[in-house]
Amino acid sequence: MAKIHCSINNCHYWNQGNVCHASEILVSRDSWAAQVPDHIDAPDASNVPPMSASTCMDTCCKTFVNKNSDQINVDQVTRNP
Ligand code: SF4
Repeated sequence: MAKIHCSINNCHYWNQGNVCHASEILVSRDSWAAQVPDHIDAPDASNVPPMSASTCMDTCCKTFVNKNSDQINVDQVTRNP
């Protein structure tokens, strides 16, 4: 996967240097991400409907999960070492 730089340091996948260590991520529109359950994520990307956004502010990383969450493993995304 391409190197993803991210500054959200309370995410389970975040690492020092602002590097994402997720095995894969799903970027989507905020309004769509808010309506679907946590288990729908990057492993299901081929089934996600393509969608448009007006600005970067309309998009989000759906793979984000708080490092203290009990939902870390529900989407089958893994954390690379
Ligand atoms: S999963 Fe998303 S929010 Fe979390 S570190 Fe990676 S890019 Fe950032």
